Amino acid sequence: MNKKISNRQEIKSTIYRLRKERHLLETHLLNTGSQLPIWITTQYTYCKKGNCKCTKGKPHGPFYYLFFKEGEKIYHRYLSKWKLSQVNNLAITYKRYNEMLANINKINRQIDTLLRENQRQNLISIPKWIKEKKG
Ligand SMILES: [Zn+2]
Repeated sequence: MNKKISNRQEIKSTIYRLRKERHLLETHLLNTGSQLPIWITTQYTYCKKGNCKCTKGKPHGPFYYLFFKEGEKIYHRYLSKWKLSQVNNLAITYKRYNEMLANINKINRQIDTLLRENQRQNLISIPKWIKEKKG
């Protein structure tokens, strides 16, 4: 939505569309269940020993790690395949929830911009009789 929106009707229809989008996101978030506030990352390693497969471009892994925050500190833990299977869906739900929340914020900012533009188009200049300083 980078193009300059000048037309009032266009502002209106864009806001209506954004509202619908936001409504869907909000409904989805309200119906989301348990989430685990962790981030999972994947890593591949190269031992580079002798004739190892990794020297031929086939790395070891994937290895999974999780990160979590407590207070201001960030911790990380190795995740076995079994542990991964226990937390993966809950972590994905958490990630998706945050992404949708970010989308809602983006929509809100777009609506704010459009409403300001709408206002700008309707502003009238301050009349002379107000500007004039008369007893
Ligand atoms: Zn290797």
